[in-house]
Parts: sequence; C-alpha cells; structure tokens
Amino acid sequence: MEKQSLLYEGKAKRLYETEDENLLVAEFKDDLTAGNAAKKGSEEGKGALNCKISTQLFALLEKGGIKTHLVKTLDDNNQLIKAVKIIPIEVVVRNIATGSLTKRLGIKDGTELPFTLVEFYYKDDSLNDPIINDQHCIMMDLVKSESDLEELKRLGREINVIMKRFFAERRLSLVDFKVEFGVDAEGNILLSDEISPDSCRFWDMDTNEKLDKDIFRQDLGNVKVAYEEVLRRILK
Ligand code: UDP
Repeated sequence: MEKQSLLYEGKAKRLYETEDENLLVAEFKDDLTAGNAAKKGSEEGKGALNCKISTQLFALLEKGGIKTHLVKTLDDNNQLIKAVKIIPIEVVVRNIATGSLTKRLGIKDGTELPFTLVEFYYKDDSLNDPIINDQHCIMMDLVKSESDLEELKRLGREINVIMKRFFAERRLSLVDFKVEFGVDAEGNILLSDEISPDSCRFWDMDTNEKLDKDIFRQDLGNVKVAYEEVLRRILK
C-alpha cells in the first residue's frame, strides 16, 4: 500500500492517506517532546524502535481480545492502520504514583496505588491537555454517551492487566501509561495511536532504573539505549 498525501503531522508521527479511504499509513518519527513541547529533541532510530515496540504490544493486546487500528507493520517506521476518528480523550492508567499525579495531589513519588486509577485528559495542546471528569466529557461532546466512557475505562483496565503481567515477567514495572482510542466506520471503538516508552513509564523491578521518556525529560541518560532494552525484553 503506497503512501499518498500527508494528512496530519503530530509530535511523534505523520499520517498519510492511501488509495483506500479506510486505510492510512502511520510513520513513526525520531522526534521527542516533553512537557507539551517545552523540551524538544530527536534521537535517530527512536521512531523505528517505537514502531517495533508498539507493533509487538498491539499484537499482544489483540491476542488478549482488544481490538486495535493496526492492520500490519509495513517496514521499520511505517504501519498500515484503519482510518478512525480519534476520540479526543487521553486515557491514563496508573499503578504507581509519579509524574503529574504526585504534583497535583502531593502523593509521595513511587507510592503503589490501592487500585488501578484511570484518568481522562482532554487532548488539546493549546490547553495543555487538562484533566477532565466524566461530566466534562459528556458536556463537551467528546463521546456519544456515558456507556462509551465506561467502555474506555474498561478497555484501559483490561490493557493494564495484560501489559502489567507481560512486563512483570520481564522484570519491568508498568508504572503508568496513556492510550488513545478511535471510532471506525462501523462505530467500533479501536485502540489507536501507539504504545511505547514515549507513552508508558517502565521501571526496572531490580534496579529501579527508568526505561522510558523520563530519561529524556529528566536528562538521565541515553534514550535509545533504554528503548532498545525495552524492545529486547519484549522479544524475550
Ligand atoms: N502521557 C503521554 N502523553 C501525554 C501525557 C502523558 O503519553 O501527553 C503518559 C506519560 O508518558 C505517562 C502517563 O501518560 O506514562 C502519565 O503522565 P503524567 O500525567 O504523569 O504526566 P507527565 O508527568 O508525563 O507530564
């Protein structure tokens, strides 16, 4: 399937049309951003690593019964995906308190949460992706109904169960992650976008070392080395 005109360019990916209006090509870029593009960088090969990692994780989730937009991975940086209408809600799922949760509520960094926490953020860069509740989602018409919100929460938790177990077997703690969903032409809610160390936090269970985008955000070392380690453990 050939790439045609560029449809959209985001922080981490470019989307291209194809000859089939129901299919797009997603190209993973090497760019890194943090704090809503407050810090920018690029790491050669990062896009290809995320493409590989996301391909593996989407396959794992499909096997676990989660429907996704991924049709097939074309090469190092490109995936053929179903065209969906992205629901403008970032679904964040947390097992351990860190990042914005600790800042917002003063919870001690690294605290194990008593249950899996699911949060919604409004996907709007100009507003810095603010946290929102169910009523905001309905009021702003971000979803059709409350049952869609329940479905997003259920899917977030289910994805967490599958991934948390998978990474624990590889001595990586899945601290938190962000997922996005889209609606296809038939109205199905599909897992979309990507799942990678750009969108998840992974802490080594033995050394506590961080193996995700915080390495870039907090200048902790080489991003690519960490992402390669995540891929190596996934493929184990
Ligand atoms: N996250 C993301 N994109 C965003 C915001 C957050 O992928 O625009 C991910 C982030 O990598 C982490 C989780 O969502 O795994 C929770 O992020 P948090 O709210 O703690 O914000 P942060 O500290 O990353 O700014």
